[in-house]
Amino acid sequence: MELLKQRILETGVVVSDQVLKLDAILNHQVDPVLMMEMGKEFARLYGEEKPDKVLTVESSGIPIALTTALHLGVPMVFARRKKTLTMDQDTYSERVPSFTKGIVTDIMVSSHLLKKGERVLLIDDFIANGDAARGLIRIIEKAGAELIGVGIVVEKMFQSGGNSLRERGIRVDSLARIASLSNGQIQFD
Ligand code: 5GP
Repeated sequence: MELLKQRILETGVVVSDQVLKLDAILNHQVDPVLMMEMGKEFARLYGEEKPDKVLTVESSGIPIALTTALHLGVPMVFARRKKTLTMDQDTYSERVPSFTKGIVTDIMVSSHLLKKGERVLLIDDFIANGDAARGLIRIIEKAGAELIGVGIVVEKMFQSGGNSLRERGIRVDSLARIASLSNGQIQFD
């Protein structure tokens, strides 16, 4: 998606060969116009699959999952990372290594929000090793819901996450694919 690539080049900060910081548009400050355009694009890509729900994990997946759900006309659910006092006791939870935090965290979804047979579109901001996506997919499986695909804003092609899902026959669409972050340079695929 050209607008996204342009905004990545304008604002992205290469933190290391492995990590790109997009705090000006996605991960801290959020660009609403860009979010709306990306939501429209994911809705165009997945509309024919007739999803019942969009699922993401807090926090950076939320804005893009929300605009996708808005364009599809369906609800958005985000997996929580911390159990709250008001959260139901009955949850699907998974333990997931966090790529940016370097720790393992639990992600959870109240079981009444994911139902058997529901068609679920998974959305996230980045895919690196694919742990977050695999955790969400296990939650979808536990619920007996159906995964229709995975929409990712930025896929780092030099890490294995996206392709490991494709090898399992899962549809993965990413709006920007990065081939390399070596030498402080953002190279698109
Ligand atoms: P994975 O679970 O696929 O290894 O990593 C995906 C998660 O880690 C994403 O939800 C995202 O929050 C975070 N992440 C992975 N790589 C990057 C990156 O290069 N930049 C930022 N800002 N977050 C990343």
